[in-house]
Amino acid sequence: MVDLIPSSDTVMQILKRTGAFREGHFVYPNGKHSPHYFQMPLAFRYYDTARVLAVALSRKFRVDRDISSQLPKVSIISPSSGGIPVAFGVRDALSAEQIYWAEQEGGKRMFRQYINKGEVNPCILVDDIIRSGHAIEETAALVKELGANVIGCGAIVRFTSAPDKLGDFPIRSLVEFDAHMYDGGDSCVDCRNNAPIEHVRF
Ligand SMILES: [Zn+2]
Repeated sequence: MVDLIPSSDTVMQILKRTGAFREGHFVYPNGKHSPHYFQMPLAFRYYDTARVLAVALSRKFRVDRDISSQLPKVSIISPSSGGIPVAFGVRDALSAEQIYWAEQEGGKRMFRQYINKGEVNPCILVDDIIRSGHAIEETAALVKELGANVIGCGAIVRFTSAPDKLGDFPIRSLVEFDAHMYDGGDSCVDCRNNAPIEHVRF
């Protein structure tokens, strides 16, 4: 029997092995420096890995009786394209009825699907990684505008600097990561040590 909720260390090993988590000296497009870099789609390019991660996250929802009692009339919602494979994996594991995902369009987050009020089942919001929490908060607001209830939310990784709750609900995650971000080179430890820089796109 496979361990369905792997430990945080095991998940980090998976992310390292697939290149989804790297350590080094990274500069982001917004100019921030960091000693670590997450690129979660690299973990989701392997079907088996994607499945292990999504099933593990789904177990965190399954144990919640408020959620499990509403299945399968539940909608799994991703705030962005990065969360789509997570949403499909979680949907599969929970046999939930619907999937939706949002995208940024002209600076505004909106659902890719045309949705009418009242069409969306009670929602679980899932993402690959929660860095600031803004994407998931914006998506929760969209869902409410459509007359649907949020009944849970989670991600594979949550930065501890992001909120750990969405309204009344805990944000469930497989890894709680204490991220280090420096506003620029002046405050960056790796810059002080002259470590070679790698510029990243996302
Ligand atoms: Zn630096």
